[in-house]
Amino acid sequence: MRYDVLVLGGGIVGTSIALHLLERGRAVALIDRRGPGEETSYGNSGLVECSSLLPIAFPRGFKALADVVLKRYPGANYHWSALPGLAPWLFTYWRNSSPERLDATARIMQPLVSTSLVEHQALARKAGAEGYFRPTGWLKIHHSEAACRAEERDFALAAEFGYRARPLTREEALALEPDLKPGFLAGSHWIDPHSVSSPGGVTKAYAAYFEKIGGKLLRGDALRVERSGIGWTAGTEHGPVEAREAVVALGPWSMDVLAPLGYGFPLAVKRGYHMHYKVAEGAKLSRPVLDEEGGYVLTPMVGGMRLTTGAEFARRDAPKTPVQVDWTEKRARGLFPIGARADHEPWMGARPILPDSRPIIGRAPRHNNLWLAFGHQHLGFTLGPATGRLLAEMMTGAETYVDPKPFAAERFG
Ligand SMILES: Cc1cc2nc3c(=O)[nH]c(=O)nc-3n(C[C@H](O)[C@H](O)[C@H](O)COP(=O)(O)OP(=O)(O)OC[C@H]3O[C@@H](n4cnc5c(N)ncnc54)[C@H](O)[C@@H]3O)c2cc1C
Repeated sequence: MRYDVLVLGGGIVGTSIALHLLERGRAVALIDRRGPGEETSYGNSGLVECSSLLPIAFPRGFKALADVVLKRYPGANYHWSALPGLAPWLFTYWRNSSPERLDATARIMQPLVSTSLVEHQALARKAGAEGYFRPTGWLKIHHSEAACRAEERDFALAAEFGYRARPLTREEALALEPDLKPGFLAGSHWIDPHSVSSPGGVTKAYAAYFEKIGGKLLRGDALRVERSGIGWTAGTEHGPVEAREAVVALGPWSMDVLAPLGYGFPLAVKRGYHMHYKVAEGAKLSRPVLDEEGGYVLTPMVGGMRLTTGAEFARRDAPKTPVQVDWTEKRARGLFPIGARADHEPWMGARPILPDSRPIIGRAPRHNNLWLAFGHQHLGFTLGPATGRLLAEMMTGAETYVDPKPFAAERFG
């Protein structure tokens, strides 16, 4: 079977790319070893964060760093055994976490982030996935004056770009979400973002639409992709397929394919967990609630109330150590009446992250028929469709709606 493009990886990023290429007249096969949207794009918090500009930073202050090192901050965990291998990456991440560099990154990301919701909505409309979306924004709660003050930087950036966000007293927060327990100090409402009740469901709906309009979904192992006369060939359950061009959109697994091709991009992962909970009779949340100091997000999902955890620095494939679910569950119970756990065991995923908190989107430096789209860190669900449009425009020689240079792979030499 012959196509124009093989897209490797059926997460939100690969699925969106495949769909955009198909809509631009390319014959596309989307290859995944599982069904679409069953890995990281399934288990996330479901926020379309169209106004989150500042990247999540490496802690710079002594107390914040000490809290992470001593495992006093529930939003972060690490494996000692992973630290030696991660040290150079962490150092670059730390350097990129100065206030000046964070501000610069925020401005680089702004055009992509700002269009993320519109791009989701365009795909959702065509794919019949609009029912998953909730236009209610998200609520952040604070337990300290320091956390309220820290958010002022976010408000200033939001105001500059016309995003709607406002600080809330505790009473105002409780008026938005009356079933929260009042043991917090204050909050904020980020009004523009939407959230979805099933990120995996959304990705699957986009993939089903891709198939409906003529795309080919195939099960296969991207590790079996090889260079061939025409470009690339891949073994799939339906036999070999080939195409002139290939796209690597394998999220946290991208380097599995790229390292053998000679690339050394500094892709790391921040692992994260989720657990669903039953909810006390009559209690509900209308939007995701982020308790940053508590290190978790609560999002109402089709499978129950989903608690997602912060970052775990560990080797991608090391066994699960879901202590953050235990740490944060206690705090979440103090905020909202969650009941019994609804999953047998915590789900684990891995946020693919480059040390400058920007994805790679563009051509592979040493292969002119290979394209890359990975490293979307905490914002991959948000940025999937916006990335799909950008890469498809680049691949078809169209004028791009965003300057792609800051996302070029060449920045890593
Ligand atoms: C706990 C948590 C909460 C998060 N919350 C949010 C949020 O609220 N909002 C947000 O925007 N982002 C969030 N994220 C980040 C977001 O989920 C990711 O950035 C995003 O899902 C990455 O998408 P992807 O398509 O690049 O990767 P994936 O979704 O992981 O897709 C990669 C695909 O590649 C396939 N694959 C891997 N290896 C092979 C192989 N050898 N052969 C064939 N196929 C292969 C996999 O099966 C998978 O389908 C969160 C992440 C976590 C972990």
